[in-house]
Amino acid sequence: MTEQPDFSWHHQPWQQLQTMQQQGRMPHALLISGIAGVGKRAFADKLIASLLCEQPDTAFNACGNCHSCQLLAAGSHPDHKEVSPEEAGKQIKVDQIRDLKQSQTLMPKVSKGKTVLITAADQMNISAFNSLLKLLEEPQPESVLILLSENSQQLPITIKSRCQTLVIPTPDTEEALAWLQHTDMQFSPEEWQSLLKLSQGAPLAAMALGEAGLKQSRQVTQDIALLMQAKANPVQMAADWQQFDLKSVLYQIQHMMQIKISSLLLGDARVSDVILRQYWAIMDCISDTIKLISSQNNLNKILLIEDFMVTVMQHADQIHQLKETHR
Ligand SMILES: [Zn+2]
Repeated sequence: MTEQPDFSWHHQPWQQLQTMQQQGRMPHALLISGIAGVGKRAFADKLIASLLCEQPDTAFNACGNCHSCQLLAAGSHPDHKEVSPEEAGKQIKVDQIRDLKQSQTLMPKVSKGKTVLITAADQMNISAFNSLLKLLEEPQPESVLILLSENSQQLPITIKSRCQTLVIPTPDTEEALAWLQHTDMQFSPEEWQSLLKLSQGAPLAAMALGEAGLKQSRQVTQDIALLMQAKANPVQMAADWQQFDLKSVLYQIQHMMQIKISSLLLGDARVSDVILRQYWAIMDCISDTIKLISSQNNLNKILLIEDFMVTVMQHADQIHQLKETHR
């Protein structure tokens, strides 16, 4: 079995699992939530290995040597099933859940129990959710169903209420930086910090962005300055941004606006108040655009970003006028 890196921010939720296991309270359905890039998948893989292992240690770690561990590492464990969208960004189909239900009626072949992993659990249509609900309502003995979700608020309450939720936290900047510097030496602390701003502080997402993320960070910093001077060409700029991961672009802008708002809050209250409202309106527009980009609707992303830029420039223009009148 390949050695997993040690994610320091996983220690606390793992301890929760250890306690549940020790007390014989391992739930039949577990929802592992957390933002993209905090290592939910790695956490689930570790849990699955421990649940299926023939001789886990006292800390509930899989041995890595037994028949079950070997089968799992080879991707051929008969008692483990995984369901994911067939294509990235697409939904899990109802037939996939029906097949899963069928397989769950069989007895375990190698291990004492069975495990199921449903990745991107929020990416389902209503009929798939209903089928999953039936599965949750009839838990199989010694079987653990694990759902992963980075948008758990999009899961129906009927599903959520039948799962025990375990949140993988986002480490604070200091912890994330320490981990990144220890794991990957290619970037300076300042560069890692820039990348963390693009990934809402999620270390694995920062790592995945890498060099391209740094290029994006530099470009977007310049472009935002132009937008805030209301001097940008939205058509050109929106076309340029298509090469970037748009969600991380918006996270970066959100971060920049938060810093700007904090500095205004420390400044002259009388002037800041009306100007602040304009910045808050920009923040709302950022959140709305992130929501739209994250939704599964087939939106024209170029138009969406152009609209975003036009709105930002309108507020920037208002800010300039307000500054003039308060001078
Ligand atoms: Zn084992």
